[in-house]
Amino acid sequence: MSAHHELHIRDYDPTTSFINADAIWATLNDHAAPSRDEVLEVLVKASKCQGLSLTDAAILLQNPHADLDAQMFDLARQVKDTIYGNRIVLFAPLYVSNHCANSCSYCGFNADNHGLKRKTLDQDEIRKEVEVLLGMGHKRLLAVYGEHPRNNAQAIVDSIKTMYDVKLAPGSNIRRINVNCAPMSIDDFKVLKTAAIGTYQCFQETYHPDTYSTVHKKGKKTDYLYRLYAMHRAMEAGIDDVGIGALFGLYDHRFELLAMLRHVEVLERDCGVGPHTISFPRIEPAHGSELSERPPYEVDDQTFKRIVAITRLAVPYTGLIMSTRESAALRKELLELGVSQISAGSRTDPGGYQAAEQKHDDAAQFTLGDHRPMDDIIYELVTESGAIPSFCTGCYRKGRTGDHFMGLAKQQFISKFCQPNALITFREYLNDHASDATRDAGNALIDSELGKMSPARRRNVSQCLSQTDEGVRDIYL
Ligand code: SAM
Ligand code: SF4
Repeated sequence: MSAHHELHIRDYDPTTSFINADAIWATLNDHAAPSRDEVLEVLVKASKCQGLSLTDAAILLQNPHADLDAQMFDLARQVKDTIYGNRIVLFAPLYVSNHCANSCSYCGFNADNHGLKRKTLDQDEIRKEVEVLLGMGHKRLLAVYGEHPRNNAQAIVDSIKTMYDVKLAPGSNIRRINVNCAPMSIDDFKVLKTAAIGTYQCFQETYHPDTYSTVHKKGKKTDYLYRLYAMHRAMEAGIDDVGIGALFGLYDHRFELLAMLRHVEVLERDCGVGPHTISFPRIEPAHGSELSERPPYEVDDQTFKRIVAITRLAVPYTGLIMSTRESAALRKELLELGVSQISAGSRTDPGGYQAAEQKHDDAAQFTLGDHRPMDDIIYELVTESGAIPSFCTGCYRKGRTGDHFMGLAKQQFISKFCQPNALITFREYLNDHASDATRDAGNALIDSELGKMSPARRRNVSQCLSQTDEGVRDIYL
């Protein structure tokens, strides 16, 4: 499907951790109370959109000067605007299986939760879920699986093939499937790659080794290093779009953020390309998990905003994903600060979309903060944030991934491909799925975006929009 590019992986030692907990704490302690000048210096560096070091991030994380904090938020907004414009990519998670042999103490799927109804969707059930999602207007999915022999690489490949094969009407099919599943061996990652997946996503949860051991008591996930090197193995297998993340609430957020940036650095060093995305799950209450009701290091909204803003400044070109777990009001603020992808209309129980009318929460992983249907979310994005919802999958299908993507002149690239593709896929959504109010608001936004383009580009994009209005589907540059 996509023309992925050869990666050159440097020799690495998967038995030695690249996370040195003492060194990270030393960096934080050395910059526990930075001066105004130190903070200002980092802000000037951040404004150049070339990223930040771990030390820089430690300074911003612990900045005690309130006015400079406000300046940092403004800068994150500017960087987000310059690099991403006002696009926001939308996707839906598809929980295929809550069978899990691990015992993560924060997750409702943990093997010791005997109150959970276990379910692994069969191919027919998967098809039905995808039909519901296509009916909502989704084009991008994140397929999610518990770690269980049932969910082996081949089973995952089979389920993804089923998802890609569903077609409601011409052009109404899923165009990109990202995967969140347990880490695998290189050979199994090669099998996974045959499913033409988009991003392989796997979160370290906590980068702090002692905390990691405390919350992972049973099963394969107890192996910290095996998980830490998952992305190296995925890249070795040729999967060049990978997504990392930490589950905020398990350990000190400052440590987790620095460790995550270290992970980025090491991937760039060893694989020649950093992660395509970073995710920010915060622990949500889950049935069958006591820890989730009282996270040991709960992150409040203000701190969460700082985490997102600092990450945006530290890795300006990496996609930042926020899950459905956050409330509508907070989502709006986080979008401005640098989040570039959100899930919409999501369910976390296998079969949950189909059963949406009935209450089905007894099979869910955790309770959701945003229950609104997709059209409401899109209406709000357009009218309150002036954001263009994008369902674009162009880069991946044109082979613009991994190091190839990272190497392009970003600014130009975005106005040439991302912005036009966002408008075209949004127009598809408006024509095929939107309520009247959303369609009116959306088309007004598209017109105003066209007005900002150069005459040549405007002509080109207008032509694609006209073709879309005539019924042509899946046009992308
Ligand atoms: N089993 C695979 C694994 O653990 O990597 C993939 C599926 S797991 C359900 C996906 C992610 O859900 C985990 O990596 C974790 O960060 C997140 N998660 C688990 N419990 C959560 C909770 N209570 N609140 C928010 N996110 C949670
Ligand atoms: Fe299983 Fe993943 Fe949940 Fe852990 S986080 S219990 S591995 S589904």
